Amino acid sequence: MGKATDKELIVNGRRLDGREPYHMREIKMSVDEISSANGSAKVSFGKTTAYASVHGPRSLFPKFLQESDTGILRCRYNMAPFSVDDRKSPGPDRRSVEISKVIRRAFEPVLFLEDYPKSTVDSFIEIVEADGSTRVTGINALSMALASAGIPMKDLVAACSVGKISDTLIVDLNGVEDNNSESDVGVAMMPQKDIVTLLQMDGILTKEELVMLLNLARESCKKIYQIQKQTLMEKYRGAE
Ligand code: UDP
Repeated sequence: MGKATDKELIVNGRRLDGREPYHMREIKMSVDEISSANGSAKVSFGKTTAYASVHGPRSLFPKFLQESDTGILRCRYNMAPFSVDDRKSPGPDRRSVEISKVIRRAFEPVLFLEDYPKSTVDSFIEIVEADGSTRVTGINALSMALASAGIPMKDLVAACSVGKISDTLIVDLNGVEDNNSESDVGVAMMPQKDIVTLLQMDGILTKEELVMLLNLARESCKKIYQIQKQTLMEKYRGAE
């Protein structure tokens, strides 16, 4: 969330990039983008582009990190230095550590980690271009990378951002909208089971606005899920 901007963010009912309030940007998805990974995916929402790669399940070292009755999921979210206009200093910072943690927690409920004692599933999200909503774009990519790695899942995870700009509720915030929003909310869910696995909110909303945004997020996640499913089915159809 940022300060109010001098620029009008909604003009004649349209956002600055021409979208109507509830429209998402163009979504592109593909899998098997990284040959050294067990599973990988690339997802773009407009200019925001995330790669995800999954390695494992594999033995966890050093051994003292191992859990005897379950496997663990490790997750690293990273924004490349060249992903934003002002170069981002490389390496982890508070924001990326927090985002890595909430993404890990968004996936733990969908995996059968107890089937992999003493092991780890290592996952990496690299944001190569950032124009808002990077964590949810990364989550959509990681969901497909896990599925593409053949790791059993209770459901996919689909994610989107919703928020409020210029007193208007919107879906899929881009960078300028995020920086000038009155509120932004990141949502990830298991779309078939209708279970929310991540919910983060910045800014101020009324209870009614929050309920409405959550419904918009749910509808949008279901649309995203259809694209994820179709992309994965094409991979397996191609393998026949
Ligand atoms: N951003 C940036 N530099 C940074 C972090 C973020 O320019 O170091 C921009 C980027 O466009 C990002 C947006 O601010 O997508 C919103 O960041 P936020 O922390 O809200 O997370 P996101 O919406 O990307 O999940």
